[in-house]
Amino acid sequence: MEENNETTLVDMHIHSSHSDGHYSPEKIAEICGQLNVQIHRIADHDTVKGHLETTLNSTETKIKKAALEISTFNGMTIHLLGYFPEIERKKLEQLEQELQPIQQQRSDFTRKLIEEAHEKSLWMHIDYEALENKVRKTYDGKTTEPGKSAYVGSMQLAKEFLYLGYVDDINKGLQLLKREGTYREDQDHGYLNTIKGIELLKKYEAQISLAHPHRIKLGEQKIEEEFMNEMIKQGIDAIEIAFGQTQEQKDRYINLARKAGIKITAGNDYHHPDKEPHRQIGTNIEEKNIDLLLVNE
Ligand SMILES: [Zn+2]
Ligand SMILES: [Zn+2]
Repeated sequence: MEENNETTLVDMHIHSSHSDGHYSPEKIAEICGQLNVQIHRIADHDTVKGHLETTLNSTETKIKKAALEISTFNGMTIHLLGYFPEIERKKLEQLEQELQPIQQQRSDFTRKLIEEAHEKSLWMHIDYEALENKVRKTYDGKTTEPGKSAYVGSMQLAKEFLYLGYVDDINKGLQLLKREGTYREDQDHGYLNTIKGIELLKKYEAQISLAHPHRIKLGEQKIEEEFMNEMIKQGIDAIEIAFGQTQEQKDRYINLARKAGIKITAGNDYHHPDKEPHRQIGTNIEEKNIDLLLVNE
């Protein structure tokens, strides 16, 4: 039997070319319009540069709908999404300043990966300095649209593999990186401690959502509900309903949010049209759960 559930398409977790995403914020807004995505937010890794740049010519002193995703570590990698309904431009600029050491750390990590690969005579055509130049000057390693990424990360390296013909698609580039490089998703990359990350976001009055909770590697003794309650105590305002979650997981997170009196956010963590598995922008939220959404426009 067909279910008669009204849904709304939203996506509050999209990466732009200011971090490791493929499209510019303007292009993302255009795509969202075409797809009829009702609410969308750009949440780049460790930068709000996209929000600052796209509003550069605005006469408003306040920036609306800025967001970002910060990577934190607390025995496990925890990504936090921060949402600003409205924030003074000056404050957002100040936040970008505070994020610069984190961006530098990301770039340094990529530099180290390349150096280590060179010691094993791998990736010999890749030169970090040239790559850094390219990331800032070109869009995807070969086309002409300017790249504006705040750092050089694994995605940019994967794109370079593609450009150099080491692989024939982005996913294989990312796989190659994991196979030949020392990059591991679940290791301490020198990220902010999770509590410090929450403090940083709160300092700028962001509302915080726990990104893709189903991907957090809790370890054997940790119970998910206990972990969530700990995070709520630390100041989390919402849990993300994310791409890749089963219906059972989604229902569980929604129930947990209702029980704890917090909100939900929803998003696909979209990066690139060819990157598995988040190839599309927009996630459906049932009408009955719309009241739970952290933002409503
Ligand atoms: Zn993430
Ligand atoms: Zn993300």
